[in-house]
Amino acid sequence: MKAMLLKAPNAPLTLETVPDPVPGPGEAVAKVHACGAGLTIHHARAGRLKIDYPRILGHEIAGEIVAIGADVTQLKTGDPVTAYFYLTCGDCYWCRINRETLCENFGGYVGRQCDGGYAEYIKLPARNFMKLPPGVDWKRHAAEWSVICDAIATPVKVIRRARVTPHDTVAVFGAGGGLGVHMLMLARFAHARKVIAVDVVASKFEACRKSGADATVDASAGRVAEQLLEFTAGKGVDVAIDFVCSKDTLEAAQRSLGRGGRLVALGGHGQPFEADPRAMLQKELELIGSRYATRQEVLDSLDLVARGEVWPLVTEKAPFTQAEAIHQRLDQGLVTGRAALVMD
Ligand SMILES: [Zn+2]
Repeated sequence: MKAMLLKAPNAPLTLETVPDPVPGPGEAVAKVHACGAGLTIHHARAGRLKIDYPRILGHEIAGEIVAIGADVTQLKTGDPVTAYFYLTCGDCYWCRINRETLCENFGGYVGRQCDGGYAEYIKLPARNFMKLPPGVDWKRHAAEWSVICDAIATPVKVIRRARVTPHDTVAVFGAGGGLGVHMLMLARFAHARKVIAVDVVASKFEACRKSGADATVDASAGRVAEQLLEFTAGKGVDVAIDFVCSKDTLEAAQRSLGRGGRLVALGGHGQPFEADPRAMLQKELELIGSRYATRQEVLDSLDLVARGEVWPLVTEKAPFTQAEAIHQRLDQGLVTGRAALVMD
């Protein structure tokens, strides 16, 4: 099969011919129709994550099952599927209580510890394939259906973790990025009172507004917490969701919180930051980490899209052989929402 290979840390992705994957016991192979390309994957492309080489990147797929190995009963040839990003055991305490992102036997990530979707075919443990809802025209919108398993599922989990209600004002830091835009969408879907997009790239604000932001804060101008406090007439926001997680954004996010405020930290730079314990006490603030999504949250996300409640924002679609060009744009922060690679 043809695949885009990453052969060394921060090397350009190159088109190669590699052996077709063959499913072993408990595994299945899908033909890939589309694969999302986001910053999570770019961190691997850029050599910032420990992986073995050569590697086929990509975990947000839409495709159909073409082969199943022995002992696979939950899938059959022709099933339309997407993928669950994490390799989990399915059997530890955390997997059993539907918090599998905390799996004690965590095996890594699709597209890092095993080959991913930047190829004609992908082989995974059968339990990592998740069926698309029946009756949806996924082939016509393969790019959109591919990204739901992360770009929608991760924000769906945040809405739950942060307990966003119609009484809450929500600020999203890094709102123009692939997860940020969809976070705005889900906050709007959750009927948040006000949704505020915070980003350093003002050219992304139009997309933020279209995705549900009522207001935008240009972080490149500084004074982010002050701007958020002004916007809320001094009360502060109820939920601050930080996809950037630099020291600056985390501290601004915490300072912007009002009484009962919740700060959600996800990925990004992951820099240590200082929180004000007196403010945490007096305002009963909560600091929440949120990691990807559970299988059920992926299924719930697919259902939301099937019902027409939300629709993923894929602004750039390219043939999968153009993966390197898309990653150059990701590297420069030029992609608004998600990009996706589409197979022929
Ligand atoms: Zn587990």
